[in-house]
Amino acid sequence: MKITFLGAAREVTGSCYLVETDQCRFLIDCGMVQGGREAPARNHKPFDFDPRGIDFVLLTHAHIDHSGLLPKLVLNGIDGPIYTTRATTDLLSVMLPDSGHIQEMEADRAKRRHKPDALPPIYTVQDAKNCLKQVKPIDYNERFAPHPSIACCFRDAGHILGSAIIEIWVTENGVTRKLVASGDLGQPGRPILKDPTNIEQADAVD
Ligand SMILES: [Zn+2]
Repeated sequence: MKITFLGAAREVTGSCYLVETDQCRFLIDCGMVQGGREAPARNHKPFDFDPRGIDFVLLTHAHIDHSGLLPKLVLNGIDGPIYTTRATTDLLSVMLPDSGHIQEMEADRAKRRHKPDALPPIYTVQDAKNCLKQVKPIDYNERFAPHPSIACCFRDAGHILGSAIIEIWVTENGVTRKLVASGDLGQPGRPILKDPTNIEQADAVD
């Protein structure tokens, strides 16, 4: 098994991890880089991997720095499911089209001002809506198998509505190892949101 940190390493935004096993390839989160002058160019540049070879995506939570490039993935040929919690699915149905709308507006404005370095939208409202069709809602604490060699479970991360720590069991050559994708963890003792679930054991954590 190989885990590649594609976005968030040494940065606070643009979270994206690629996990490759002997039987499948999947992503954990696909966030947009936010803030900083290079952010638009970084979000536009081609992915460092071939999206068409990705079997599925796991999403920890709806914040744009974790979910914002999902429509770009779909535009680039990912046709597998995007698994996340029910509340995150609801939030995405508002946030991703909104992100597309902002990009369309900004591109329009730049065009009207004849800016030479104007970039087109990475994706439109319609692209975001197309992406939503691939999102599959999963209940918290329900173990499911996105691939015969992979089992997953979303645990409450207490960060925002719908946020999850994802437990991932990967079986290769008869040996099962456990990954934990923490996303952004909440602070214990906050009102409204539940305290993050304590995860007992893991072989790799991000
Ligand atoms: Zn977050």
